[in-house]
Amino acid sequence: MIKVLVIDDDRLQFRLVQAHFKNFRKGAYELDWSETYEHGLARLLTGGYAVCLLDYRLGERDGLQLIREAAENGCRTPIVFLTAESSESVDIQAMEAGALDYLVKGEITPRMLERSLRYALKLGDTLEALRRLATRDELTGLLNRREFDRMLADEEDRARRFGHPLGLVIIDIDRFKAVNDVHGHPAGDAVLREVAHRIAGAIRTVDRVARIGGEEFALILVQTDGPSALEVAQRAIGAVAQNPAPLGNGLSLSVTASAGVATLPADAKTAAELIAVADKALYAAKERGRHRAVPAWETRDRS
Ligand code: GH3
Ligand code: MG
Ligand code: MG
Repeated sequence: MIKVLVIDDDRLQFRLVQAHFKNFRKGAYELDWSETYEHGLARLLTGGYAVCLLDYRLGERDGLQLIREAAENGCRTPIVFLTAESSESVDIQAMEAGALDYLVKGEITPRMLERSLRYALKLGDTLEALRRLATRDELTGLLNRREFDRMLADEEDRARRFGHPLGLVIIDIDRFKAVNDVHGHPAGDAVLREVAHRIAGAIRTVDRVARIGGEEFALILVQTDGPSALEVAQRAIGAVAQNPAPLGNGLSLSVTASAGVATLPADAKTAAELIAVADKALYAAKERGRHRAVPAWETRDRS
């Protein structure tokens, strides 16, 4: 069943769309209807729909606004825009807001609607695959360095705007070069995948865990102060070392990791500075014997 959400404040229009669906030659679709902007947006953001048919006029507000608001909230559902009038400016605005197609209500035929939905679904899948390639690290599935930089800059803005603290943890595997040297590069890769999995598990989301270098990982911790960030870092390090990591060749190996912890605004003023002080704390953790987390406030220069 392909779940389709129709957001339209006009019941007659919904009935019309429903009638078109009955005429589709193939494809099993299940239709849900939202009558208002708020209800439609909330349903769209559940992520439970394969595609959305969205009306332009929605009471006080319009569908363009809804597309933008949904996108800001991380919505990836493909959207086909419906309007009563054929207007080039609405068409272009809809496209720029992220709609995948634009249909004029009076001109719709069942075939056209079915075709439009099919193309939107296909294009949506392609876009999602591209997005994944652009934002994820291939080996571990975590965020890549570019996405980490982008997300940290976003969260820095947000933390400043709302006056929340922002935590950063940088984790580096201890003596990792020896794993490659002794067991080979494929075994090293297997350890990296396992460590990534354990770190992500320790903070219960992969959405803010990045692989930022060869055997270096970073956690972006929103609304998290120093002591809480340190706790998360210790939990992650504990998870890495908890039991031997499989090497993918039947053997397994104990690995440990070290971490540096820093928070905004206590330890740094900017995201760049936050990375620098967390790195410095990580270096201190290595110096103090590894397999530990060191907070930036212990390594601050006193002058
Ligand atoms: P330290 O405890 O000081 O961090 O020592 P280390 O050996 O972990 O540090 P170093 O930075 O010298 O070594 C990192 C090694 O990580 C070097 C490289 O061989 C390995 N490495 C980096 N990227 C990858 C990767 O994608 N796969 C594998 N298998 N190894 C990698
Ligand atoms: Mg290392
Ligand atoms: Mg390193």
